[in-house]
Amino acid sequence: MTTTTLPTLPHWVDGAELLPAGTRTAPVYDPATGEVTKNVALADEATVDAAVASAKAAFPAWSGLSLARRQQVLFAFRELLNARKGELAEIITSEHGKVLSDALGEITRGQEVVEFATGAAEHLKGEFSEQVSTGVDVYSTRQPLGVVAVISPFNFPAMVPAWFFPIAIAAGNTVVLKPSEKDPSAANWIANLWKEAGLPDGVFTVLHGDKVAVDGLLEHEDVQAVSFVGSTPIAQYVYEKGSKHGKRVQALGGAKNHMLVLPDADLDLVADSAINAGFGSAGERCMAISVVVAVEPVADDLIAKVTDRMRTLKVGDGRRGCDMGPLVTKQHRDKVASYLDIAAEDGAKVVVDGRDVEADGAADGFWLGPTLIDHVPTTSRVYTEEIFGPVLSVVRVESFEEGVQLINSGAYGNGTAIFTNDGGAARRFQNEVQVGMIGINVPIPVPVATFSFGGWKASLFGDTKAHGAEGFRFFTQQKAITSRWLDPSHGGINLGFPQN
Ligand code: NAD
Repeated sequence: MTTTTLPTLPHWVDGAELLPAGTRTAPVYDPATGEVTKNVALADEATVDAAVASAKAAFPAWSGLSLARRQQVLFAFRELLNARKGELAEIITSEHGKVLSDALGEITRGQEVVEFATGAAEHLKGEFSEQVSTGVDVYSTRQPLGVVAVISPFNFPAMVPAWFFPIAIAAGNTVVLKPSEKDPSAANWIANLWKEAGLPDGVFTVLHGDKVAVDGLLEHEDVQAVSFVGSTPIAQYVYEKGSKHGKRVQALGGAKNHMLVLPDADLDLVADSAINAGFGSAGERCMAISVVVAVEPVADDLIAKVTDRMRTLKVGDGRRGCDMGPLVTKQHRDKVASYLDIAAEDGAKVVVDGRDVEADGAADGFWLGPTLIDHVPTTSRVYTEEIFGPVLSVVRVESFEEGVQLINSGAYGNGTAIFTNDGGAARRFQNEVQVGMIGINVPIPVPVATFSFGGWKASLFGDTKAHGAEGFRFFTQQKAITSRWLDPSHGGINLGFPQN
C-alpha cells in the first residue's frame, strides 16, 4: 500500500506546526484495522537543533514568570484537559488500539500529575536556618534546569509524558517531548491544548522521530536533563549516553511483574485481578502482571477460575465496547505470538491459546487473544523475557519463601503484588521483595501522583523516580545561600572556618 497520499503529522515547534521539506517519515497504523492512517515526521539533526533552540529561547521568560502566573496556565490546562479528554482518548485508541475506557483511564492518571503540579509553589519552597553562625543565615532555593527532554514509549502516549511535563513546566523548565513514533498524535493534541491554555510558545515542543532524534537530544549541549521511559536496553543506552554528555538522566525500563498467590487468598479476587492486570491494554503495560506465582495447592483451582473468566472476554476494536483491543503493530503481535511456540518447545502447557481468537474487528487488525500458559519453566524465555502482550504465565511453587526468592532472582524490579489474607505475610513480603512498587491485594500498584513512580534493578537507571516529590527534585537544582548583613559584631579577618 502506498502511503504517499496520506497526511504527515508535523513537529510542534515555537507554538506552531513544523514540517521541513524532504522530511523522512514513518507509517502510523490503526491497529484495529491494520491500515496506515497517516505518516509521522522523523526529525533530522537540523530539526532537533531548531526544536531545542526554540525551547532554549523560551526559557528565560518562562522561568522568570511568577509562580502564580505559571500556576494559572497549569490550572487552565487542567480544565481544558478535563473537559476534552474524550477527544484525546479517541486519538489514543485509533493509534494504540487500547479500548476507549482504558484510554480515558490513562488520561485521568496523567491529569492527576497536572493537578499535583498545580501545587508547585508548595513543592518549590526552600529551607531556612537562622543564625547558623553569629549573624549568619543559610537558606536554599530550587531553580529550574533549562531545556529538558522527555522521551516516551508507545504504550501510554498521554500518561507517560504527563508523568514529567506538568512538573517540569510548573517548575519553570521548557520541555521537548519526543513521543513514540508508533502513536504520535496524542502529543500534538496536547501541544495544541497547552497553547489554548496560554502557555507561551516554545515552552512545550513536540519533536517526532526515531533514534536520530533521540541521539540528537542526548548529545545536545543545550539539553540539561532527560526523562526516558521504554524498554530496558534503550533505557540503559539513554542513561549511559545522556550521562556521558553531562545530563541529568532518569531512564525507566522494562518489567516482568509477578503476582504471588498464597493459599489463604480469596481466589475469586485473585482471578479477577489476574485477568485485569494480565490482559488490560492487551498486556502492553509496564505494570501488567505477566507471571502468576501460585503457592500450592492453589494452582489448579486458580487456573480453572482464570480460564472461565478468559472465555468471557470480548476482543475487538477498542471503539466497539470490547474488553481488549489489538496489539500495537503486526510486528509486535507476531513477536508476542512467537512465545507460544517457545512455550510448547520448552515443555510448558498452553491452557488458552490466543491465536485462536475471533475478534470483533477487521480481518487485518493486529489480533492476539488472551493467552494462559501453565507449568512455565523458569529457564524458558517465556519466563525470563518481557513479552509485553496478553500472555499470562503460571509458575507453581511450594512456599512463600520460594515465591519471594523467585521474584528476587529476576532481572527486573518494577512492580509486584501479593494476594493473601495474612497481614504478617504481606508485611514480610513488602519488606523482603526487591521491587520498587508493591501491591497488597492490588494487582497494578501504580502510585498516585503525590508519590513517585519507578522500579528497581533493570527497571530504572538513575536515582530519581517519576512525579511526586522526586519529580520536583529531578526538574530543579538546589542553591544554598549563606548570608550575613553587617552588624556591629562582625569580627574582622579570620582565615579559618567560622565556628560559632
Ligand atoms: P522502546 O524502548 O522501543 O521505545 C521507547 C522510546 O525510545 C521511543 O520514543 C522510541 O522512539 C525510542 N527508541 C527506540 N529505539 C531506539 C534506539 N535504538 N535508540 C534511541 N531511541 C530509541 O519502547 P516501546 O516499545 O515504545 O515501549 C514498551 C517498553 O516500555 C516496554 O519494555 C515497557 O515495559 C516499557 N515501559 C516502562 C515503563 C516504566 O515505567 N518502567 C512504563 C511504560 C513502558
